[in-house]
Amino acid sequence: MKNTENEVQLKSSRKAAAVLNEHFASEGMKKLYPMIIDGQKIRTGRQIDVINPATAAVFASAARADESMLNTAVAVAQRAFPSWSAMPLPERAALMHKLADALQAHADEFARLIVMEQGKPLAEAQKEAPAGIALLRYMADHVDYAPVMLKSDGDTRIVEHRRPLGVVAAITPWNDPLRLLIIKLAPALFAGNTVIAKPAATTPLSTCFLGEIWNEILPPGVFNVICDNNDLGDALSSHPGIKKIGFTGSTATGMKVMASAAGTLKRLTLELGGNDPALVLDDVDPVETAQRVFAAAMANAGQVCLAAKRIFVPASMYDAFCNELARLAEATIVGDGLDPATTMGPIQNAAQYQKALGYLDDARSSGTIIAGGVPVPGPGYFIRPTIVRDIPDSARLVREEQFCPVLPVLSYDDLEEAIKRANATDYGLGATVWGSDLKRAFDVAMRIEAGTVWINEHMVFDFGVTARGAKFSGFGGELGPEGYNSYTQGYVVFQKGGNYEK
Ligand code: NAD
Repeated sequence: MKNTENEVQLKSSRKAAAVLNEHFASEGMKKLYPMIIDGQKIRTGRQIDVINPATAAVFASAARADESMLNTAVAVAQRAFPSWSAMPLPERAALMHKLADALQAHADEFARLIVMEQGKPLAEAQKEAPAGIALLRYMADHVDYAPVMLKSDGDTRIVEHRRPLGVVAAITPWNDPLRLLIIKLAPALFAGNTVIAKPAATTPLSTCFLGEIWNEILPPGVFNVICDNNDLGDALSSHPGIKKIGFTGSTATGMKVMASAAGTLKRLTLELGGNDPALVLDDVDPVETAQRVFAAAMANAGQVCLAAKRIFVPASMYDAFCNELARLAEATIVGDGLDPATTMGPIQNAAQYQKALGYLDDARSSGTIIAGGVPVPGPGYFIRPTIVRDIPDSARLVREEQFCPVLPVLSYDDLEEAIKRANATDYGLGATVWGSDLKRAFDVAMRIEAGTVWINEHMVFDFGVTARGAKFSGFGGELGPEGYNSYTQGYVVFQKGGNYEK
């Protein structure tokens, strides 16, 4: 599709979405979202304006906490902990199902709210609540914190017990505001902890809304929501009343969290940035594989931690592969996520948009742009998906995590050398390998330094399997036994002389 056609489509797309925006505003969406502390809706004088990135206009606001409110939230969460943690697990499991039911009942509202605060297309936003619902039900039905017999030998029994930690904090980024929150809340609450959630400053609303509906079900103080303007993270991470931080965000901020948490020796789960390689092998169909790699790179306008961010392609198929990526980029309908025709939304916030413009400059000077390469004229934070070829590994766009739809495609002659180049990064979050010879693809996957490597697929998760970063992409992991147990403390008891528990 030509750029002029895209412009026309964007205009009509924006018109349709403007009507929807107006509709939601009149429905009462344009309002102040309260924080939740001790089950109470807290509306403060200080507020955070929330901008719809598709219009660059404020459409709602969130109440904003100061440090004394944070201290109150910690105090009420501490007070709620003894009775919540003492609740028998089956009762908490029943409550997890009720939380899932509530999420289900409001799934449409969440989806629209996520589009408006985050920007992603409605079809992508509609996946966040169901992912949370499925995890809550999985936890309730499959996860058990019953004591585990480690050894039973004669009259010696070694048993591991698990107890919740106390008050834990969930700090989340702006790219998947609901999904990445519930991935922390489900294990934290189910294990018997009380929680303080702190969303990103640009996407606080879905967290506030979740606080509202879940506090109709949970006892006061069990799930608290505070909002900040990127200024309470240090106070949270260093707070002596908080026992663990479940953090998802950039590597730079993760390092700050680790430093702030050191003085209180907090437990940490750090899910950080990535610069995931996609390694294309020489026995695939270039056109078909380019289509799958494009999807892996461009979902949520490239603002996915596990997006394919550096594409390594054999020289023999480089032209065909690049051309297909360029065709797909040109065919993308960039626009307001509320328009059903939109296949790519805006960059989520002004700061990230400026970063994206910087990567476009870098692409122009270090490589060859074969599709996109231009910001879309305002008012929203749109840029067209951009394909960059003939760019060296030393370019900023290749070395750094771009977190936007500007994609470098790198040619290789020798697979050994490509594996080395794929691993030549501090990051180690995820990777994909694309090949027809599955044995060879597996051998390559085994040599990639990343917490999760997919072969011929992307972003497939299993609630029973832990997802974790390697190297500067973090540690700790979410999901799976390791993820769930990280919200508990294990205690091992050596029992000599038989079973005296009963
Ligand atoms: P960010 O690091 O800027 O912010 C993340 C959160 O940390 C926000 O809530 C922010 O307010 C808070 N924060 C800021 N300063 C803090 C401090 N000193 N102490 C504690 N918290 C503080 O990240 P972002 O820009 O919102 O998100 C994008 C980044 O997140 C990308 O790097 C992306 O790869 C990463 N990410 C990782 C995963 C994963 O699972 N590994 C998932 C999604 C996003």
